[in-house]
Amino acid sequence: MTSDPAKKRNQRHKKAMQRKKQHIDSRIAKAVIDKGLLVVLTGPGKGKSSSAFGMLARSVGHGLRCGVVQFIKGTWECGEQLLFKDNPLVEFHVMATGFTWETQDREADIKAAVATWEKAEQLLANKEIAVVLLDELTYMLTYGYLDKTRVLNALSNRPANQHVIITGRNASKEIIDMADTVSDIKDIRHAFDSDIKAQKGIDY
Ligand code: ATP
Ligand code: MG
Repeated sequence: MTSDPAKKRNQRHKKAMQRKKQHIDSRIAKAVIDKGLLVVLTGPGKGKSSSAFGMLARSVGHGLRCGVVQFIKGTWECGEQLLFKDNPLVEFHVMATGFTWETQDREADIKAAVATWEKAEQLLANKEIAVVLLDELTYMLTYGYLDKTRVLNALSNRPANQHVIITGRNASKEIIDMADTVSDIKDIRHAFDSDIKAQKGIDY
């Protein structure tokens, strides 16, 4: 037999859940707008690119055509690249020069950034592409490699139903203001701080 305090607790829980359900149901009923989203994943914590590629996996799972432009190529071959680069639904572009803080040649980096941005512009002008992932784009703007107005124009003139995901630390105010969804990922701890090397599947 259920004791009195336990019964009361169960009743309180049931009421709280009913209120929660009502609240959630009314919010779901109110959300009727259907549009292409600009999602920005920024901040110093781990999880920006991996979350973005998670959304890409969801999109591909639904059979949507996607485009990826990676503005900084890591030193290791990323698992997401290996998974998606030969998928007929995904058009994949990687900035040619590799890791910017390894090249240390501003002129060459600017040239590569602009050439890579042209790929992004083509995707952003193509209404057949449902999702465009601009991985590590923010650095191209913080370093002044790309013209901010040019980037903002391409984003705001894209097809109305096209989703765009932007990753990278220090997203600029203009991009954050334009975005529909923004997550600022906090760094509480990263294994690298304890001298643990990057792990396949988790870090790349
Ligand atoms: P991920 O691709 O794992 O989601 P991210 O996109 O949030 O990471 P980036 O700054 O692009 O972060 O870094 C890519 C690499 O650096 C990954 O291997 C990631 O684990 C590592 N990294 C991310 N955040 C940190 C951090 N705060 N300290 C040390 N290493 C980090
Ligand atoms: Mg990243």
